[in-house]
Amino acid sequence: MRFVVDGMLGGLARWLRMLGYETEYDSKADDNTLLELSKKQEAILLTRDEELYNRARAKNINSVLVTGEKEEVRLGQLVKTPGISLEINMATTRCPECGSDLQELSRESALNTVPAKSLKLYSKFWRCTNTGCGKTYWVGSHWKQIRHSLQEAQKIASPERATRC
Ligand SMILES: [Zn+2]
Repeated sequence: MRFVVDGMLGGLARWLRMLGYETEYDSKADDNTLLELSKKQEAILLTRDEELYNRARAKNINSVLVTGEKEEVRLGQLVKTPGISLEINMATTRCPECGSDLQELSRESALNTVPAKSLKLYSKFWRCTNTGCGKTYWVGSHWKQIRHSLQEAQKIASPERATRC
């Protein structure tokens, strides 16, 4: 399952990449480019624009009209259709910034790129394999918020299942 995301859904694109889904996002791409890309990549087009959604459907492109205002609501909608999973797996998670694969860093490489404070607190680090991006990640204090948002999304998608989280 892969996605093309319209310019209004940049936050959602970051979430989908974290969840490991290949996601194309370019805030400047026009509607025709989005349609072409979705068709070529057999991707699901996510949009807030009803007109674009209808154009996609007319061209037999799989598309979801995203309606929620909050990211949790949007993710919950995508759990129902097309059925995304809300599990973050560090082996398959992607760089939220650019969508490239992440690679686990050795302790030595981490020494050069990770702030000393984080090096003390955490033991595992990942770096984006796209040399033009190269961002470094770790499961830090912000992780609590990420988990919380994913739980909220799960509750929205299936209220009866969420109690198990
Ligand atoms: Zn990156």
